[in-house]
Amino acid sequence: RVEYDYYKYHPMSEITNWMVQIAENHSDVVTIVNYGQTYEKRTISLLKIGLNTDWKKKAVWMDCGIHAREWISPAFCQYFVRQILQTYKTDPKIEEMKNMDFYVTPVLNVDGYIYSWKDNTTRLRRKNRSPGPSDCDCYGTDLNHNFDAYWSTIGASFNCCSRTFCGSSALSEPEAQAVTYFVGTRKDHFLCFFTIHSYSQLLLIPYGNPNFTMKVGLAAANEIKKVHGMNYTVGTSPDILYANSGTSSDWAGLQGIPFLPEDQIQPTCEEAYRGALHVITSAHDNTFNGAVDATFTTLWTLLLAVGVTTSTTLL
Ligand SMILES: [Zn+2]
Repeated sequence: RVEYDYYKYHPMSEITNWMVQIAENHSDVVTIVNYGQTYEKRTISLLKIGLNTDWKKKAVWMDCGIHAREWISPAFCQYFVRQILQTYKTDPKIEEMKNMDFYVTPVLNVDGYIYSWKDNTTRLRRKNRSPGPSDCDCYGTDLNHNFDAYWSTIGASFNCCSRTFCGSSALSEPEAQAVTYFVGTRKDHFLCFFTIHSYSQLLLIPYGNPNFTMKVGLAAANEIKKVHGMNYTVGTSPDILYANSGTSSDWAGLQGIPFLPEDQIQPTCEEAYRGALHVITSAHDNTFNGAVDATFTTLWTLLLAVGVTTSTTLL
């Protein structure tokens, strides 16, 4: 059997096979959970990593591939799973975290991801594949703007042809419904949520308890820098994302082109893993060692490096 190459981009069929293989090879700790269906009726699955089935355990949520074209995001989820499994029995910090489960969705926007692999004209796909409103010829909703918490807030568009179209209503999309239902019915279970994008080197800290999360975020950025010297900016999204976007043309410019050449997958994953691990261990220690208060349950957005240098050739 050929070793899976974590430093290449893989089409959906290979990622699905990889999930099956991982669950088979690590059947003591890994299970596949199917928790939803896309608009085109494909199954949305996650890998649950945990040593027992106690639902009272705490857990970490990570979703990748909300935006179809951001291929580094699913690549990171796969890398993350491999690292967690490799270190589960050796790393003392992970050892300590055995009272936590990991729920990792490698590709949430399955339809969009498959579409982005079709050919050069579809590579820039960001949204899912549901049809727009009846008076509109454009397909797709930006899933990131379809969740109840963010719906139609700044950065979203009501124009169904826009790449940030927020949908006809909050949670109009089956992919957003699936996550909301799965997480929502296990709310007390989760300690932290990660959603992974390709955008820039940014770590978006959650709202609420800003002093504490800022401290954790800055420490995580410090850990990231130790790996390959990359500087990640830390802040809330209004502060470092939307506030900097200004006019819509600035916003488009800031969007960058979310391609990362394959030779950047490894260093990007290595540093992002270190950063995520710092947030996770902080959440763990905060909960199980009773530091600060118990309100760590938060959403972290990791925006991984963008390979702007090769964007023109890929376009
Ligand atoms: Zn994105």
